[in-house]
Amino acid sequence: MDAKYLSDAAHFPGGHAAAIAIPQTVAEIPAIVRNARTLLVIGAQSSLTGGATPMGEVVLSTEKLNRILDIGPGFIRVEAGVPVAVMQDALARTGAWFPPAPTFTGAFAGGIVATNAAGAATFRHGAVRRWVQALTVVLADGSELTLRRDELRATEIGVRVPTYRMPDVVKVSAGYFAAPDMDAIDLFIGSEGTLGVITTVTFSTLSPIPTSALAFVPCPSERDALALVGELRHERAVAAIEHVDRRCLEILHEDGADRRCDVRVPAGAELALLVQFELPPGTTQADAFTQIENSLPPNGAATALGRVCRLLHAHGVFDSTEMALPGNTRRAEQLIALREAVPAGVNQRVGRAQQTIDARIAKTAADMIVPFDRFAEMMQIYRDGFASRGLDFAVWGHVSDGNVHPNVIPRSYDDVERGKEAILFFGREAARLGGCPLAEHGVGRNPVKQALLRGLYGDEGIDQMRAVKRALDPGWKLAPGVIFTRHRLGTTDYRQLITD
Ligand SMILES: Cc1cc2nc3c(=O)[nH]c(=O)nc-3n(C[C@H](O)[C@H](O)[C@H](O)COP(=O)(O)OP(=O)(O)OC[C@H]3O[C@@H](n4cnc5c(N)ncnc54)[C@H](O)[C@@H]3O)c2cc1C
Repeated sequence: MDAKYLSDAAHFPGGHAAAIAIPQTVAEIPAIVRNARTLLVIGAQSSLTGGATPMGEVVLSTEKLNRILDIGPGFIRVEAGVPVAVMQDALARTGAWFPPAPTFTGAFAGGIVATNAAGAATFRHGAVRRWVQALTVVLADGSELTLRRDELRATEIGVRVPTYRMPDVVKVSAGYFAAPDMDAIDLFIGSEGTLGVITTVTFSTLSPIPTSALAFVPCPSERDALALVGELRHERAVAAIEHVDRRCLEILHEDGADRRCDVRVPAGAELALLVQFELPPGTTQADAFTQIENSLPPNGAATALGRVCRLLHAHGVFDSTEMALPGNTRRAEQLIALREAVPAGVNQRVGRAQQTIDARIAKTAADMIVPFDRFAEMMQIYRDGFASRGLDFAVWGHVSDGNVHPNVIPRSYDDVERGKEAILFFGREAARLGGCPLAEHGVGRNPVKQALLRGLYGDEGIDQMRAVKRALDPGWKLAPGVIFTRHRLGTTDYRQLITD
């Protein structure tokens, strides 16, 4: 058995499988599902939750289901195993694009639907859910269901809709979707392989493709930076804003990533923003340059890009901003590489600590979102929560959504334990502030994430999810142990669930 199928990007320990099935066509799937005692469907296994790590099930890999079935005005229909990057390339040839692509574009169509993934453009365009027009799903008994948006209610497929209220934020990847009179299609989006095997997907698409540009903006304080973000969020040209905190900047410097990417970070910078622009199609470098020049005092700022530059100027950060103007692919790649060097640097440190200090050390990180107007408060909570436990940490993420990834940089196994405790505390705080402790990666098999889900909806909410699962998969065949356990564990202190 090929060991590559036994783990995912979360490096969840103990992966093992009864068998691996790699169907060549979607027509083979019903029989595979019918014949399996338990089954885990996998995509690119880029899951950060252990949800794509088998624990004794038959693994159903969708890798050969990689056909693009149809592309037309405003839509693309694909098999579940088509990677996002392949979809984008095919769309680009027709002048269209798929906005909510996650950062990892090797993820498959089925995987991004199953986790309700999100990406940088989610700030403007929402998460994957909004872009799903239709799905074909094979249920646990091997029957096939075709779901087109607005055609079938969840109650019509025998499901009692849970009554918990989902957080009102742009990214929620926290168990089953629930809303009064909900569409059946929404049950399967974000269900992490526990309710059915998605075989084909029709996504909405957008055209024309906007011109992109980037700005790297070092800021002297978090307060100034968040004030700036608060204004930039209202600017038409801004597609998304990423942020890295001071510890991230230190890591970039320690690792030489700033020199490698040829980016100057001023010594006093407390935080840096990476602003992504969507400019009108056809905007050239020369156009952008003229717009920037014309935006500076004493001139006005009529254009969308000009208005942004004026804001940068007003906040005193224009001179230290590094831009990648339209067409300057090399500069854009350097700025993106700098942003990507942050998680890489933190993961390397975790790996080193695991090898040299304690083999039990593992990535200890959260993926939480709060409404932007509570974001400054939440950042303080992350910082105080980690600092009061004596932890080294770094925070980065999608600041325009209020969604960040607070990460512990562990120096001992004890740090990992205290980090988990802090994350559970953050989860309660995020929920209190109207946010969601599980924003874009899902729940998977991760005990802390399962505890966060339980903290969010309570025992009753989890029982209602179990009832949905039972209605569609009474034998608990699909992805057992993902999102929640089969049986109620008989405890209301969800901290007791933490075992890894
Ligand atoms: C470097 C990196 C960057 C990332 N960036 C982002 C990001 O920006 N945003 C984001 O949301 N996530 C991100 N992720 C997480 C991950 O890419 C997403 O969760 C992605 O949606 C998973 O897709 P996949 O094809 O790899 O699915 P897998 O990891 O294989 O599976 C994930 C879950 O979906 C289920 N599943 C997979 N295929 C199907 C199917 N056909 N039918 C039913 N269930 C299925 C699996 O059972 C599992 O529970 C990142 C991961 C990495 C490693």
